[in-house]
Amino acid sequence: MTDQEQCAFCGNTHLTAKTTRYLHQAQGEMLIVEHVPCIECDFCGEQYFDVQVLKQIEADHQAINEHRKQPARFVKVAVDEFRAA
Ligand SMILES: [Zn+2]
Repeated sequence: MTDQEQCAFCGNTHLTAKTTRYLHQAQGEMLIVEHVPCIECDFCGEQYFDVQVLKQIEADHQAINEHRKQPARFVKVAVDEFRAA
């Protein structure tokens, strides 16, 4: 894990280890990774990831794109354009 002790964004020192959903994008391809360990700022919600975790996700995404690895599942994603009401 990262040894982040203070939020670089807001300066808050209350950070909690948890897991989150991470959206990785590379070469126009997207990969959603569930249960990624991170440290989250209790105040502003900024999330910090260990560099090893990010490297692993990047390697896994590349393996999936090159059909060397099978993802756990596929989801349909709706895409919309924002229009002010
Ligand atoms: Zn913060």
